[in-house]
Amino acid sequence: MKIICVGLNYRRHIEELKWKEPSEPVIFLKPDSAILKNNKPFFIPDFSDNLHFEAEVVLRISKLGKGINRKFAYRYYDAMTIGIDFTARDLQQKFAAAGLPWELSKTFDGAAPLGKFIPAEKFTDHANIDFRLEINDELRQNGNTSDMIFSFGAIIEFVSKYYTLKTGDLIFTGTPPGVGPVKKGDNLVAWLGDEKVLDFFVR
Ligand code: MG
Repeated sequence: MKIICVGLNYRRHIEELKWKEPSEPVIFLKPDSAILKNNKPFFIPDFSDNLHFEAEVVLRISKLGKGINRKFAYRYYDAMTIGIDFTARDLQQKFAAAGLPWELSKTFDGAAPLGKFIPAEKFTDHANIDFRLEINDELRQNGNTSDMIFSFGAIIEFVSKYYTLKTGDLIFTGTPPGVGPVKKGDNLVAWLGDEKVLDFFVR
């Protein structure tokens, strides 16, 4: 399976990073070795001194598809959750400044903690889903899918031009503003709608 990620999909997050708004989705992949499940702890890797959280809505692909029209995209995912797109911001900035791919900063072991999946049909309007991240009981990110530059349908239409989507593939759909560093001992808890889906510690 593959993990497809969208970068720069919320305007206020683009502003906080001081990047430019993209005209089409910015895509990168994480390997399956990045997945952390069942609320297992995340260990800060020793190669970063500025490890950032990015809470994102994650879609689970349920059907083989290629060249999918955005109108039918909803037929290709059956569940969603919150995942953390962990990012070694110091590595990302170093690579970006040198004009090099910043893949290593987001694809290392454990860089994709995943919450419990909720059936997609539980949400009546996929373009209006609230989600949030609390760290040590403090609200840090608060998003709504209506703020996405590229909707779920637009993302699936775009990525399925390049990749055949397969059952079990995941799509991280971008993070709202509020990203920042984690430290040992932090407790990250994420909510999708009114359901707590993720609850783990940083070690
Ligand atoms: Mg991200």
